[in-house]
Amino acid sequence: MSVYWAEYAWLPDGLAERVTIDVAGSTISSVTSGTAPNGNELRGLTIPGFANAHSHAFHRALRGRTHHGRGSFWTWRERMYAVADRLDPDSYYRLARGVYAEMVLAGYTSVGEFHYLHHAPGGVAYSDPNAMSAALAAAAQDVGIRLTLLDTCYLNGGFGQQPDEYQRRFSDGDAAAWAERAAAFKPESEMVRTGVAAHSVRAVPPQALRVVAEQADGRPVHVHLSEQPAENRDCLAAHGVTPTTLLAEAGLLSPDTVAVHATHMSTADIRMLADARSRACFCPTTERDLGDGIGPARELLDAGVRLCLGTDSHAVVDGFEEWRALELNERLASRTRGRFDVAELFSAATDHASIGWPEVGRIEAGAAADLVTVDLDSIRTAGTEPAAALFAASATDIREVLIGGRQVVSEGCHLLVEQPEILLREEIRALCPP
Ligand SMILES: [Zn+2]
Repeated sequence: MSVYWAEYAWLPDGLAERVTIDVAGSTISSVTSGTAPNGNELRGLTIPGFANAHSHAFHRALRGRTHHGRGSFWTWRERMYAVADRLDPDSYYRLARGVYAEMVLAGYTSVGEFHYLHHAPGGVAYSDPNAMSAALAAAAQDVGIRLTLLDTCYLNGGFGQQPDEYQRRFSDGDAAAWAERAAAFKPESEMVRTGVAAHSVRAVPPQALRVVAEQADGRPVHVHLSEQPAENRDCLAAHGVTPTTLLAEAGLLSPDTVAVHATHMSTADIRMLADARSRACFCPTTERDLGDGIGPARELLDAGVRLCLGTDSHAVVDGFEEWRALELNERLASRTRGRFDVAELFSAATDHASIGWPEVGRIEAGAAADLVTVDLDSIRTAGTEPAAALFAASATDIREVLIGGRQVVSEGCHLLVEQPEILLREEIRALCPP
């Protein structure tokens, strides 16, 4: 049994002071407010960890490298394919280790990896066809973060188009081959779980969407949805319906479904997600980096669609930035303040159930022992009200991180990865020669 004492803690019913948190193994066994300091003292505000519901680990190599001549969506995509082309299981393991370490340092305790970089260049299978999945799982384990490997079906280069030379690495050829390979991946660690994903209605034809839905089997099923208006336009031209309708018709919308982005949605599309009790995952820092637009977050939540958040391309990895953007983007679009209350934002930021970890994300007896402590005395947070500090803090204000009862970050340093910034620099230099 370990005992932690939090100066302030965010509990299911809001902010509490002087909180003793008893941890037995990987689980919180009791929580008591208004206690005298005892055990390991956590100075500042302790919150359950952030959930990163949408990640493509290799996109991290593109940060600060796609703005040449101002940078367009195509500059970004070209660079993304070039990086993907150079990765192999060994280099992907090393890169992902740095990427996941950055997430833990930012207070994320779980990540949903939307993984489609399956094969060697040209689409040739590795001797272990799941070598890339295994590399990601090993990286997550070595960093101490919870991983949900969302094995992603990616078959086409666009509606009715064969994959191009770069995209061949992503494809298993057909849905049955994808299902067989994905089902063969059995993680050994209890910190790694699996789910499935369809890349998008562009990359997965309707009959293959059905196969993805069948393979979910109670696990999370994720899909990119209506990120850009062009996807809606092309889907209408190819199938005569919106992408959301196509997913509904294929049986892909369920309470386990997470629609990633959901930026350009009609009222009927929103209704369909709500009726299926699906979620929407917003990735505000990536969506603004790529110029996608501002999705209808308030409308979705009002309709009954739960929201979660992801750092997607990792243009920024900062949980505070992500959930603030949910509110602040709405303010800009609606010219009104206070679109969400703090509890709603907090619930989106800590929705680990969206990636299959329903026991994570609350500081209460019986929940997983994921605790993240935010400094309330930094130059950014000094003088703020403790709960509202979340509107002022940045990733560098994360001091302590406990994941499943294991201390992974202490005094702002990762305990399992030495100097992850040097690791990232070296790996990215090797992947992106000048
Ligand atoms: Zn994505």
